[in-house]
Amino acid sequence: MKIKKFEFNMFPVNTYLIWDEQKEAILIDPGCASVTEQTQLKEYIESKELTLKHLLNTHLHLDHILGNPFVYNTFGLKPEAHKADEFWLENAPKQSRMFGFELPENQVPIGTYLSEGSIIETAGIKLEAIHVPGHSPGSLVFYCAADHCLFGGDVLFQGSIGRADLEGGNFDELREGICKKLFVLPPETVVFPGHGGKTTIGAEKSDNPFFRG
Ligand SMILES: [Zn+2]
Ligand SMILES: [Zn+2]
Repeated sequence: MKIKKFEFNMFPVNTYLIWDEQKEAILIDPGCASVTEQTQLKEYIESKELTLKHLLNTHLHLDHILGNPFVYNTFGLKPEAHKADEFWLENAPKQSRMFGFELPENQVPIGTYLSEGSIIETAGIKLEAIHVPGHSPGSLVFYCAADHCLFGGDVLFQGSIGRADLEGGNFDELREGICKKLFVLPPETVVFPGHGGKTTIGAEKSDNPFFRG
């Protein structure tokens, strides 16, 4: 599996494009907000001759969905996400004003609801959705067992975990979810988070300060 990471928008957020030899691709958390970023994404997909099959959102916080309207208009894909985060779509215009900008387009409604155990497949890639609420109620982690990696959104970071003080957040639930659902995965599993650099399950299990003692 090939993985291309883009860093998009002012937050900035990690957007991941994954595919294999069969050139069917999955896009996770498109954060592309400016025309420059949108063009960069589109041209990259075209240069690799990829067919985009799925648009996945780990969760529906503003920084992770800014590029959804562009992806819908360009590739005709609606986002796949957890229902428990749907209210964040309605909050998006208010949220953007808090950060000092207006959203140019309406948000795209969820096209497919994902939940614990949902399988997302292309010709060559198989991901399994793991529901780890606490950062947001509908936070999903997309796990690829064959390639020993996961796309974790804002659940688990290198040396940190997602904030739990936003609407619908819950610190204990987040911590417990990481322990019970992520730390049981093979330690070599690479974590590609929604912000910052990658890490592994093993490294976070032993070194992450939120899980010491
Ligand atoms: Zn978030
Ligand atoms: Zn985020």
